[in-house]
Amino acid sequence: MIKNLKFKTPNVSRGLKNKLELQGNEYGQAVKGVIVCEVCHDVFFKKGWHKPGSTPLQQMPLSGKGVHFALCPACKMKKGNLFGGKISIKNIPIGIREELFNLISGFGKRAESRNPQDRIMDIKTQGGNFIVTTNNDQLAVKIGRKINDTFHKTDKKVVFSAEPQEVSYVEITFS
Ligand SMILES: [Zn+2]
Repeated sequence: MIKNLKFKTPNVSRGLKNKLELQGNEYGQAVKGVIVCEVCHDVFFKKGWHKPGSTPLQQMPLSGKGVHFALCPACKMKKGNLFGGKISIKNIPIGIREELFNLISGFGKRAESRNPQDRIMDIKTQGGNFIVTTNNDQLAVKIGRKINDTFHKTDKKVVFSAEPQEVSYVEITFS
């Protein structure tokens, strides 16, 4: 039985990702068979990562020959204290903090259920400021857009770092 373990990072990580490390292809080319992530137990096969227990995996033996253990790109990123996107939200009115938190975490859960490698890594709250990190630059941008659409009184700025890092920084300030 595979358990889906989740860890919360204590601090928002700093750093830049190496784009090449994030692509599953390196595994697909290097290893035949399947790869099981040692931390989150996502399974890589047929060029994609799948959640444990998801339909494509139900007939798949996850032990024995041809099964390898490694870190998936999302867990590798977390271990390296890296992130792909960061949303800094400032000056959040007290009355909407809970709603905003739920909006962000719900968005992250839906993204992860579509693609297990799209994840919110951490939501750090500090009074009227939240810092959200994602392992995917586009996920941060989408969350920023969602916040902007939901709460109109915001200013939003999206900055992408230069190639090859491709890290997005989204800044939202409630006015
Ligand atoms: Zn993993």
